[in-house]
Amino acid sequence: MARVIDALPGFEKIWERLVNQKFQRKLPHAIAFSGPAVTEKVDLAWAFAQLVLCEKENAPCGTCGQCLRAEARQSEGTLFIAPEKNAIKLEAAHEILDFLSLQRVSSARIVIIDQAHLLNLQTANALLKVIEEPPPETYFILVTSEFSLLLPTLRSRVQTIRFAPQAYAPDPEQSELRELAAHFLDDAGQGRREALDRAQAESKDRENALQFVRLLQRELRERTLRNSETGKVRTLTALWQSAYKVELDLLANVDRALLLENFYYRARAALS
Ligand SMILES: [Zn+2]
Repeated sequence: MARVIDALPGFEKIWERLVNQKFQRKLPHAIAFSGPAVTEKVDLAWAFAQLVLCEKENAPCGTCGQCLRAEARQSEGTLFIAPEKNAIKLEAAHEILDFLSLQRVSSARIVIIDQAHLLNLQTANALLKVIEEPPPETYFILVTSEFSLLLPTLRSRVQTIRFAPQAYAPDPEQSELRELAAHFLDDAGQGRREALDRAQAESKDRENALQFVRLLQRELRERTLRNSETGKVRTLTALWQSAYKVELDLLANVDRALLLENFYYRARAALS
């Protein structure tokens, strides 16, 4: 059980943008994930599916039925279309329209079209209207490595998120921060308040605090996996969800010092 996004380090900026848009109820109903040589775009589309389908308040939780099915790429709320023999033909448009005509069984519906630049003219034309005015809670993700080859009629109807190769280069500062996140949890478990002081000092601004709290989530996620056979799983999962809630609160501009302090006490109680 997992949040797809946790296996995609380096896409924090893009993810933050999507989470923010969801939080503000401003998610565009058609998005192009574009960028050459970035193979994680489809995975990110599934992470997006978890974000909009998750049944929990702190979406995506990674553990509810919707999250699990999206992680397994078997979500009833998601239709995945891939080209056949280098083309996306009219049958695909029919499949999409059929999918959208069925009664909605999930809170939202997502259509992911991989290599959307291979949509032929006829197929694209059949989809224009529904992409422009989709049914409520319907999202199209057009994944493409060749945005310039996407039909202009489609290009003008989507909001584009560009995956620039340099945007996901590993950050040299991350390993240090990551160690700090691990120490924070260990120290909190032993009731050492220095952990909190150091975390406060590292979180000079919101960006730093966000980075720190995401690394805490990753650390907790890994500890959950390592402890999957023990009784600690529930505690670690709960703590990991509160770390994610801290992330959302940071995005909503709640006071960082207060959030970190609250989280420290939660971690201390959970891990002692
Ligand atoms: Zn969920």
